Amino acid sequence: MIGMSFRFEEGSQWLQKASLSDAGLMFLFENLLIFVLVLLMGDWLVRRYRHRPVTVPPAPLTRVEIVVALANVVLNTLITLLGWQMWKHGLIRFRTDVGWAAVADVPALLLIMDLLMYWLHRVAHLRFLYPYMHLFHHRYERVRPLTLFALNPVENLGFGCLWLAVISVYPASWLGMSVYLALNVVFGAVGHLGVEPLPNWWVKTPVIRYLTGSSFHAQHHQDLHYNFGFYTLLWDRIFGTLRPDYHQCYGQIPMAEREKTPLSVIG
Ligand SMILES: [Zn+2]
Ligand SMILES: [Zn+2]
Repeated sequence: MIGMSFRFEEGSQWLQKASLSDAGLMFLFENLLIFVLVLLMGDWLVRRYRHRPVTVPPAPLTRVEIVVALANVVLNTLITLLGWQMWKHGLIRFRTDVGWAAVADVPALLLIMDLLMYWLHRVAHLRFLYPYMHLFHHRYERVRPLTLFALNPVENLGFGCLWLAVISVYPASWLGMSVYLALNVVFGAVGHLGVEPLPNWWVKTPVIRYLTGSSFHAQHHQDLHYNFGFYTLLWDRIFGTLRPDYHQCYGQIPMAEREKTPLSVIG
């Protein structure tokens, strides 16, 4: 614990004094690392669980998809830089404790962000905003790991600003926030695998069954009317947007998907 707080102090001092270019390079490296890890781990999981597809195979990769994904890595870096500036100016503060209160930050942040992102996602689906905010992500009905980054920059910026707004009012611990951010990447990556790595007992086990997995978000890409949550099924259940056949189609390609896809694509 002592070592941890020492490292935190050291890192915090470096961040406080770093120049814009040094901080920018570090955050770019951090975001590129996340990008590469998502693609490498995603590719490994897709191969490992290819016997459990939840979507028909995606269309061949396009240059647009790659360029937009890389542009979003740069945008994520800019959002991180904005958060850094807010922190330097005292608009965002972090606690340094590493005890139970820090652990409690993780479910608290997951639930708060899940609720706010659920509603932002619903707003992004409103007819007059959808083409300018969210349509690009839904061009990819059949997801693959890269789809996590295939976002309209407006949408990415919206979610990024929502996150910065939350931590400017919620005094999270550094540890809780870091664990939350890591989980955010894990949930996002799992949601765009196109295969279900989680076992079927997942949806039958108390508490755990309320967590999203690959099937949950793949079904949102297949039917835009359902499954708007990011980490939990909670808000979709409360607001009546959980796909009626979610449990039935868990870990498999829904029949409606198979029927609308040419046999040559399914293979
Ligand atoms: Zn959507
Ligand atoms: Zn998606």
